[in-house]
Amino acid sequence: MYIFDSVKKEKVEFIPQDKNNVKMYVCGPTVYDDAHLGHAKSSLSFDLLYRVLEANAYDVTYAKNITDIDDKIIKKAQELNKTIDQISSEFTDAYHKDMDALYIKRPNLEPRATESLEAMYSLINSLIEKEHAYVTKDGDVYFDTKSDKSYLSISNQRQDEDSTQARVESSSLKRNNTDFALWKSAKDNEVSFEAPYSKGRPGWHLECSAMIEKHLADENLKYSVDIHGGGADLLFPHHENEAAQTRCSSSHELAAYWVHNGFVTVNNEKMSKSLGNSFFIKDALKKYDGEVLRYYLLSSHYRANFNFSEEDLLVSKKRLDKIYRLKKRLFGMGSKDIKTTFKDELLKALNDDLNTSVSYALIDEMISSVNDTLDNEPKNKLIKKEAMANLMFIENILGFASQNPFEYFQYGIDENKKNMIDTLIEKRAEAKKDKNFELSDQIRDEILALDVSIMDTANGTFWESN
Ligand SMILES: [Zn+2]
Repeated sequence: MYIFDSVKKEKVEFIPQDKNNVKMYVCGPTVYDDAHLGHAKSSLSFDLLYRVLEANAYDVTYAKNITDIDDKIIKKAQELNKTIDQISSEFTDAYHKDMDALYIKRPNLEPRATESLEAMYSLINSLIEKEHAYVTKDGDVYFDTKSDKSYLSISNQRQDEDSTQARVESSSLKRNNTDFALWKSAKDNEVSFEAPYSKGRPGWHLECSAMIEKHLADENLKYSVDIHGGGADLLFPHHENEAAQTRCSSSHELAAYWVHNGFVTVNNEKMSKSLGNSFFIKDALKKYDGEVLRYYLLSSHYRANFNFSEEDLLVSKKRLDKIYRLKKRLFGMGSKDIKTTFKDELLKALNDDLNTSVSYALIDEMISSVNDTLDNEPKNKLIKKEAMANLMFIENILGFASQNPFEYFQYGIDENKKNMIDTLIEKRAEAKKDKNFELSDQIRDEILALDVSIMDTANGTFWESN
């Protein structure tokens, strides 16, 4: 398996420290608002990596944090006159709901900042003890970046001496411009936690290093985790600072492989709330099946910047529809996990730094070829069995085509209409049973007038919207 390492800036072979077990940590959301497309793209990229690692028979421990201490959460709580616990639990639930709708597997571990304070204190204490951090007279604690010879080795940036000088003047308590807060003292009425340095709050960078140390690190290994991931915007300063904290407080480096996903734009504009084009997942889900969004967001490479447009989404939907049409054609076939060349090729494409465009092309080809064979030999059982096994593999590794194919084509139809159609189908079946064909034809026409198609199969009658 090959993966692009953002620090080495090249595609490298992935070899975990322990040959069967992989530890992966991904920076998760700050829970103060609904998840947008950027969150979806990041979650999907690492969900795919997680699935591909599992398909390679690795046992994966996948951790993703929930930041539930943050100025933005406090601000939101004040605005809505709620407690920070209410805000963070409300938006954690909303986040889970959105990610579940995109068929994203939950990580094995979801550590929260509020539950990791002890681990954060012990990390700060160790950094102070080793003289990599200092406490100011205000009770703030800063990481001394000049004390770490390897600082900036993750993002490959250079220290700019001039700007260092300028910023040092504006914040005289910091020793160097790039020094970052591990702990910030709070003003009298602010939300705060008791710590030996002052009543205050932890810096954001701190929590990831502390959680990784607490949940994943092993003293005997060179790296705390095999893979550390997140959005490309986190490389600097967030990941640089996480790496520095771990390197200077422990005997290991933070991660062996650094993986970053690209940015998301909407109609070629950077997604930001100030532009008013922030696209919440929950809004997109009102219109489109989560699987359609999943298929679309994974259609371009995880490292590429992704431009969302509804036009492209509809093209993606047509490609996903084709997979479901084949699933419908195979409906009722038992499925067995058998070896196929397609499965080998699909895994090979994904093992090449998650090459989804090659994977999608392989799927399109497989579907056309199976359909062609079945057009000529509708009873070819071997082809059907292999095709079912291929669909099962696609479902496991890419997370599409998991639904009943008939229900997939009913997406967006309101419950009343669904109930009406189901009732008519039942009545028609009864009329047929009573051999009242005039009535059954009449009911069929009533159903067709609702702009749906019906299919009579050995497993009963199914319908889909036109
Ligand atoms: Zn992080």
